[in-house]
Amino acid sequence: MRRTLLALALALPCSQALHAHEHEHEHDSLGAHEHGVASLNLVVDGNQASLELDSPAANLVGFEYQPSTDEDRATVARVKAAMEQADGLFSFTPAAGCQLQQVDLDSPLFAAQDHDEHDHHDDHEHAHDHSHEHGEHADIEGRFDYVCDAPEQLEALTLPLFNDYPAMQRIQVQAITASGQHGAILTAEQPTLSLD
Ligand SMILES: [Zn+2]
Repeated sequence: MRRTLLALALALPCSQALHAHEHEHEHDSLGAHEHGVASLNLVVDGNQASLELDSPAANLVGFEYQPSTDEDRATVARVKAAMEQADGLFSFTPAAGCQLQQVDLDSPLFAAQDHDEHDHHDDHEHAHDHSHEHGEHADIEGRFDYVCDAPEQLEALTLPLFNDYPAMQRIQVQAITASGQHGAILTAEQPTLSLD
């Protein structure tokens, strides 16, 4: 189900209707693509914490076309490596002892490197092909799974990524934890979401 929703989110920015009015989007809840803005979901369940980031590629890479020069490819590789590490992007309360277990990245810009490593669902491939055909906008999606030694100590999520990615202006964060639902729009000036 989750996969289907993600594929739909990827496909929507390429719809004919959206092309007609450029960056004025009507799909705010599904697949909105506004440069400078990203969404982040956090779910804490027991000792598992999972983050899902959905961002226009421009916010992280600086462009959204398929990398064609060595410089472009180096930029994409650097961003991909930073996202695989994740510690420069997200920071949990240290006392919670959250350790990154797995990262799953998906983007048309990463696709050339990914094809050797991963099996993609068919709907994923279609989303990719769609983006390739139009070549105007591209997203980067990432899922980051953590296991926390002391999840009860988890008091805040901070996003140091604003330091490294100035094109990222704000991130809409939704969190579901044992203490309930939390939401905020985080920025470089206010990069921390309280989870109390
Ligand atoms: Zn775009």
